[in-house]
Amino acid sequence: MKYYSLQHNSPEVDFKTATLLGQAPDKGLYFPKEIPHWSKSFIDTIPSLPIEEMAFQVMSPYTGDTIPESVLRKIVTETLSFEIPLVKVAEDIYSLELFHGPTLAFKDVGARFMSRCLGYFARDNKERVVVLVATSGDTGGAVANGFYQVPGVDVVILYPSGKVSPVQEKQLTTLGENIHALEVMGNFDDCQRMVKTAFTDKELTDKLFLTSANSINVARWLPQQLYYLLAWKQWLHKEHPPVISVPSGNFGNICAGLIAYYSGLPVDHFIAACNINDVVPRYLNNGTYEPIKALATLSNAMDVGDPSNFIRILELFGHSLPELIKKFSSVSITDNETEQTISKVYTEKGYLLDPHGAVGYLALERYLSEHSIKKGFFLETAHPVKFPESVERITGEKIPVPEEVQPMMQAVKKSTMVNADYINLKEFLLNF
Ligand SMILES: *Cc1c(COP(=O)(O)O)cnc(C)c1O
Repeated sequence: MKYYSLQHNSPEVDFKTATLLGQAPDKGLYFPKEIPHWSKSFIDTIPSLPIEEMAFQVMSPYTGDTIPESVLRKIVTETLSFEIPLVKVAEDIYSLELFHGPTLAFKDVGARFMSRCLGYFARDNKERVVVLVATSGDTGGAVANGFYQVPGVDVVILYPSGKVSPVQEKQLTTLGENIHALEVMGNFDDCQRMVKTAFTDKELTDKLFLTSANSINVARWLPQQLYYLLAWKQWLHKEHPPVISVPSGNFGNICAGLIAYYSGLPVDHFIAACNINDVVPRYLNNGTYEPIKALATLSNAMDVGDPSNFIRILELFGHSLPELIKKFSSVSITDNETEQTISKVYTEKGYLLDPHGAVGYLALERYLSEHSIKKGFFLETAHPVKFPESVERITGEKIPVPEEVQPMMQAVKKSTMVNADYINLKEFLLNF
């Protein structure tokens, strides 16, 4: 499989190069040259196919000859080593629970797949491979965990001191070994600026192979289509393909779902559920794409004012808005509606949503109320315990910490405090 740049000004590359580079030299996103087509018999066997076999068959055309079969089989097995259940929440509404991974958010799957691919590719790299990330919370945890103990790769994570939740901070700082946490005395923008400067510092990039574990990386983006196959495996109403509601920020997850649909997975309709950062809903309404400055909301992992993966969705639909809206819609949900939904679904159905899942739930409920013969599921992208302030305030009850993460909550924080100046990052990178 070859990948081309959506800016059309860089050479085509294979999966290895696309993974190592992240972004094409012309700053475009990489896109697969041909989307594989799954036979009807493959779709029909999904319910009985072992998960690892299914994942191997889906991912192998994308990795091509850059990863040998035995290695790829091991990678997908390690990637999907936790459960992803489809749970009934209300009449005709199901929740695809993506929060049972080590950091309790759906980014675990992409991060684990990417880390293992990068680890494999790093074997024949001359320089030391360093993944550099600035995080405001969720991404950093998934990346740290995904890369933990992957040989040949070090991860340096910058996070703003005092501005991530307690669970998130533990996820970033308690692993140690090849995971290094820098606690920056500043805000997220400072962290991001420091990371960006490092990538342009020639003295540094001569010594180290720096890469980002960005969500636009094909190795993080493409394995997300496995969620949709795992849901189909468990979908009880095969005669009614599901309506799928995806809480969306950068639109990587939903774009992966659309790729799966393009390959032949039965789906009735996709809903991109946004918070008040409504660039895409507005685009679908009036045909103009206008980025905004991101607004802060309860579903903060979706506070994105210029969703980077949306261009991939347009590419998939030949840049035709009329084609796109046949299969895809997008709505914007306010924080007030999010709170009401968490409260209502908890009281009436006994199901505790996190703010991101609540956005997805409400968008789906509204759509189904206008299409009453349809059924669907939403993606529950994070465990509510990751957002205790808002969820506990709304339900008035303490959320128990899941057993899987209790050892982590007891572990000792290890971080290096630095001032928000680039020179501190550089010194760290040259000396660790
Ligand atoms: C990242 C994230 C999202 C948004 O996913 P995109 O692929 O960026 O659209 C939604 N919910 C949670 C909890 C996330 O961490």
